[in-house]
Amino acid sequence: MFVFVTALLLSLVYVFFIKFVYYKQSVIWQYTLNKITSHLNIDGIPRFSSTQESPRPRLKQIAALLVTAHPDDECMFFAPTIINLVESRADVYLLCLSTGNYNNQGAQRKKELLNSCAVLGIPANLVTVIDHKDLPDDPSVLWSTALISSLVLKHIQKHNISMVLTFDERGVSGHANHIAIHKSLSYLASSGRLPEGCQFFSLDSINILRKYLSVLEVPISWLLPSDFCSLIGRAEYTRAKKAMLCHRSQLLWFRRLYILFSSYMFVNTFHAVTIETKNVKIY
Ligand SMILES: [Zn+2]
Repeated sequence: MFVFVTALLLSLVYVFFIKFVYYKQSVIWQYTLNKITSHLNIDGIPRFSSTQESPRPRLKQIAALLVTAHPDDECMFFAPTIINLVESRADVYLLCLSTGNYNNQGAQRKKELLNSCAVLGIPANLVTVIDHKDLPDDPSVLWSTALISSLVLKHIQKHNISMVLTFDERGVSGHANHIAIHKSLSYLASSGRLPEGCQFFSLDSINILRKYLSVLEVPISWLLPSDFCSLIGRAEYTRAKKAMLCHRSQLLWFRRLYILFSSYMFVNTFHAVTIETKNVKIY
């Protein structure tokens, strides 16, 4: 009986803490964006301070570029960030470096991607899908850092991008194509080729236990150090789920379980990439 009551109380406390995290994040989200747009050094957002900075009319100036490898990466891994940026009236561009043609479904997957983006709030004219023979959807093919860097840099310059978001060095799912994008962006940052004022953020890969805790994981991500945290509640989750369901060609049983249990459907944390080393190989 004692164990049951204790477990119940702890569960209630945890639920209230989740609610607190959502409330607090709604307060500091504006602060986070202001930090990014004002190009200050981002050294951690004060999670427990009473930050109530008044919104400044600069959100329109955010031009965010999300670089992904395959159709469905955008909603599987980045939905909380896309939804929050779009709702904050930022211009969100998507550059998807392949059509996801691994099973010869490239044309269909491209259409699914556009539908998914429409649900998330990215209009079709801001979505670019690359179909290049040297960038196949295939984890066994090493994508060229030089080629990716060139494509991404052109996009950044063309749209005057102020923040680039992509995978980290572990690629979230460990897919080689995801990791290749991180390596290319790291190369651009380390070689000083990113335009001044353009910041590069990589999405934190989390361990498998945290990955499938669904909304219960939100407080953990929120409390751990990061430079940029984005989380969504029930209503936005429904939207993220709807975007996932646009990728009909990928809706196998494990994908449905992913929608139910993945914490990436609720929260994203990023680290700003500032690189000192210049020893990045290009091949
Ligand atoms: Zn992918």
